[in-house]
Order: sequence, then structure tokens, then C-alpha cells
Amino acid sequence: MTAEEKQRELQGIAEEVRNLEESPLYEYRQENDFSAVPGEGDPDAEIMFIGEAPGKQEAQSGRPFVGSAGRVLDGLLESIGLGRERVFITNIVKDRPPQNRDPHKDEIELYAPFLERQIEIIQPAVIATLGRFAMEYILERLNVPGVEGKKISEIHGQIFHGEAPCGEVAVVPLYHPAAGFYNTDVKNALEEDIKVLKQFVDGR
Ligand code: URA
Repeated sequence: MTAEEKQRELQGIAEEVRNLEESPLYEYRQENDFSAVPGEGDPDAEIMFIGEAPGKQEAQSGRPFVGSAGRVLDGLLESIGLGRERVFITNIVKDRPPQNRDPHKDEIELYAPFLERQIEIIQPAVIATLGRFAMEYILERLNVPGVEGKKISEIHGQIFHGEAPCGEVAVVPLYHPAAGFYNTDVKNALEEDIKVLKQFVDGR
């Protein structure tokens, strides 16, 4: 697929997510004048970042990681010489849960097929998960061996190999950028771990 074809397919998915009236989060979205947050970035990205769910600023703008966690992510990307236009950024759950609560299992299950189609279209070289929810979902879904029951503190920054329907894909679990706000060790780990992703980027 050309980049234009990929972009068109991704726009189709975004439209489906916007029209997902059966979502338990749809009414909350409408009541608060929020938008769905399908994801954005380079349809040919080598690196795909997957977070948990949009926060308030994301739901207000319809764009992923534009609030305080997003500024941390932007800084991390900049530290390895990348702008956000070079990567693809999305979340497992594509609508904001009320009061930033953790996503429920049924919400993850409802939105996951959209995420999986995004992965299929983009075919990234590496998936970097942001936080525990995305890590657990992707490690299990892509049949990554030897990580069952592992905590993010044990495996962050390591390269694993998952099986996506489009073929093998590297998976690197990262802490959630917001987790570094009040914890210097986590902030330092994020700054170190992000460097692992450099090797997946070509010279474009
Ligand atoms: N946190 C997330 O997990 N995703 C966003 O888009 C913003 C904050």
C-alpha cells in the first residue's frame, strides 16, 4: 500500500470510531462536547506509540497526547531527533473514560479491533507501549513469549518480538509519560529507554 492508500484507510477507521454509538463512552463524549481520539501521525511510521486512553485535553481536541503527558512524549521524541509527524501515536481506548478512570475490560475489547487494524495498515517496525494497560494488551495479543505476569518495572526498555498478522514486530514497553511527573526514577528510565527506539528509524 502506498502512504496515500494507508492514509485513506486510517481515515476510514477514524470515521468509524467517531460514529461508534454503541460505545459505553459515546454518551459521555456527546454530553461533554468531546471528540473521539482515533490517533494520528505518519501512515508509514516505523514507530507506533500506543497509550491507554485520551485525557481531557485530548478529548477536547480529538488528538492524542496533546496535554501534559504529550509534552513529555514530545520531549522524549525530540531527544532522539524525531518530531511527532514521523511516528504514529494512538491509544487502545479511543474515547475519554469519565474522570480519567482506568479503562474497563469491555471498553478495551470494543476499541481493540480498531487498534489492530491500525497496526495492520501501518505495519510499524516497532510498537512502543506507554503504560501498563497498553503493555499488557499488546504483549498478550501479539503472543510475546516469556513475559506473563511481568511488571512494567521489570521489562521496560527491553525489546521483545511479537507476532502481528502482518508479520513479526518488535515491542518495547515504556512507562507512561505521566508516570514520570512525580517520580525521578521513572523519568530517568523513560529518557534512557526512548534511545532503544532509535535503531528502528531509517534515514528519511
Ligand atoms: N494519556 C494517554 O494514555 N493517552 C493520551 O492520549 C493522553 C494521555
